Amino acid sequence: MDISIVVPLYNEEESLPELHAWIERVMNAHGFSYEIIFVNDGSTDRSWQVIEELSKQSDKVKGIKFRRNYGKSPALYCGFKRAQGDVVITMDADLQDSPDEIPELYRMITEDGYDLVSGWKQKRYDPLSKTIPTKLFNATARAVSGIKNLHDFNCGLKAYRREVIKNIEVYGEMHRYIPYLAKNAGFNRIGEKVVHHQARKYGKTKFGLNRFVNGYLDLLTLWFLSKFGIKPMHIFGFLGSIMFILGFIAVIVVGATKLYDMYNGNPYRLVTESPYFYLALTTMILGTQLFLAGFIGELIARNAPERNNYQIEKEL
Ligand code: UDP
Ligand code: MG
Repeated sequence: MDISIVVPLYNEEESLPELHAWIERVMNAHGFSYEIIFVNDGSTDRSWQVIEELSKQSDKVKGIKFRRNYGKSPALYCGFKRAQGDVVITMDADLQDSPDEIPELYRMITEDGYDLVSGWKQKRYDPLSKTIPTKLFNATARAVSGIKNLHDFNCGLKAYRREVIKNIEVYGEMHRYIPYLAKNAGFNRIGEKVVHHQARKYGKTKFGLNRFVNGYLDLLTLWFLSKFGIKPMHIFGFLGSIMFILGFIAVIVVGATKLYDMYNGNPYRLVTESPYFYLALTTMILGTQLFLAGFIGELIARNAPERNNYQIEKEL
């Protein structure tokens, strides 16, 4: 199969029939073998019924139905797992991304040898409240990721060589950073194509301003992970062990000194009267806690793939 088109969607019932007809037109005109994987991310409108109807009309249409709304990244992740095409395209369901771009994206992957090609909505049809923070955001993402040639990390329209999406794990809100994830996994032939962008025709945007807050937090996490892996976690265990050992030695020393005092003519100065004893004890306890915090961190980091256990209710 040439192309898998993965479409994450949340309440996009009006757009789906138009999007499907448009994709079908472009694919047939170029003679591609393809599939469309609609991932219904817990829509509360009739989106799933529409997908069911489309899949009855065409065997190219596949569907995944989440039990609830998990977010765009999980939707992409599950679509990626299912994808069979040599080239995998992602696009938004709201008709803001144009299927007319797909043939050139396909060509760039298969002929120019890119691992990944990201769309660039150079001329956007979004309000200023969105485009200005987006510019700042992209500048930061470029600097942090070291992928200097991308202008539009968040563009929903992207194309990948199949190996790329099979070898990265998109979770949380990481869909914005798939190029960065890909680069970290060793896929560094990353290209960009200026794409046509349209205003939203039906429905409304699913992301508010908090997208930027989440975006920056995720960027920080990714940067940290790609620079240091889970090694920083060892610091907790290391510091914790040192503190515990020092505290333990101090407890013994203070205790022994006091006991010595007690048996040498100072019988009323008990061990527990000494402030040094408490300082030593506190150090020991803090050390144990720090060590445990580090240990929990390591466990979580090692079980990270568990993040992507999503509840799929139905598949077509
Ligand atoms: N989307 C999704 N799950 C969500 C939010 C959004 O699958 O929780 C889909 C949405 O239906 C659309 C795409 O992600 O197909 C992009 O969303 P939207 O158009 O709202 O984002 P914007 O264009 O404003 O960046
Ligand atoms: Mg949109």
